[in-house]
Amino acid sequence: MHVPFYDLSKEYTLLNKDIKNAIDSVLQSQNFILGSQLHSFESEFAEYIGSNYCVGVGSGTDGLILSLMALGIKKGEEVITQANTFIATAYAISIVGAKPVLVDVDSLTHQMISEEVEKKITNKTKAIIPVHMFGSPAPIKEILKIAKKHKLFVIEDACQAHGGEYDGKKLGSFGDISVFSFYPSKNLGAYGDGGAICTNKKTVYKKLMMLRNYGQRIKYHHVSFGTNTRLDELQAAVLRVKLRYLDTFIKERNVLAERYLNLLNSVNTVKIIENGKSGYHLFVIKSRKRNSLKDYLEKRQIFTQIHYPLPIHKNPVYKDLFTKQSFPNSEEIAKTSLSLPFFFGMTERSQLFVADSINSFFNKK
Ligand SMILES: *Cc1c(COP(=O)(O)O)cnc(C)c1O
Repeated sequence: MHVPFYDLSKEYTLLNKDIKNAIDSVLQSQNFILGSQLHSFESEFAEYIGSNYCVGVGSGTDGLILSLMALGIKKGEEVITQANTFIATAYAISIVGAKPVLVDVDSLTHQMISEEVEKKITNKTKAIIPVHMFGSPAPIKEILKIAKKHKLFVIEDACQAHGGEYDGKKLGSFGDISVFSFYPSKNLGAYGDGGAICTNKKTVYKKLMMLRNYGQRIKYHHVSFGTNTRLDELQAAVLRVKLRYLDTFIKERNVLAERYLNLLNSVNTVKIIENGKSGYHLFVIKSRKRNSLKDYLEKRQIFTQIHYPLPIHKNPVYKDLFTKQSFPNSEEIAKTSLSLPFFFGMTERSQLFVADSINSFFNKK
């Protein structure tokens, strides 16, 4: 038996007629940029998240960069995020010239520790970017409280968090801005790169619309600075089909997670904060024997990944910025966590094989 880390083919089997029709309608229209598909997707996605506005962009990374630009964050200012996240969260801060300031994450939930955020606030701090790790909520209520007290913006990095909830509300509906990625393997994935930004604020929305399209409202009439990062019509058409199934996908991911939790009696798993519901972008276990477990599983044709093998401050690119800083939980997580095969359409048989293999690894010595 061969168990890949993810396999999107089951999803495609379910959707292929709808997707082919959607793509064909774009081809028929011969309109590829800033057309009706994008316009419709933006209102449908805003509605799904429970946000007033949505702006489709080229990727989650671009969404984070544009969000910081729209809030006016610039050189010399500081933005707080966490040590355990995908590099793009920190890069976005660096790309606008600001300084990423890191805090540690909780060792049980892998989410930002809100108490640590308050300790890192200086008179240069402008924003906090909590990341809803693995599709589960960051402690957003506490983070919003701190932000309000210190007059800081909150940008939710919801790039993994489509369909996750806190207190019955969708992740991405809490901050000043939230950012989603439609990288193909995300809970809602395009057939290429894509991203979206959600906000309730009209002024921010208007800035984002200018920023993604060369700072123009009228063609070749450039009133503000901007770039080119737009979710294209083909991707928007694919995403509109998939959005109709997103709740089905999330429900299935929760069933798969529940099954793993029941089967895996020998390992620790990542916890979800109280009142939270996960979109389960990833299913992560923890073990001090992680590296040998990973090899053992690979020999049985079970493919796993690590999210992430290096915390932000340990990446060579940032070696000068974070010298002498340490974030013990994030460092521990980088050494012990393992993401198991997990995708829509994964069979019970595959899950049993993965769980049996893990249990036998731990019971054999
Ligand atoms: C995927 C991801 C991003 C970047 O999204 P892209 O669409 O790949 O640019 C940013 N932050 C987190 C936490 C992610 O998982």
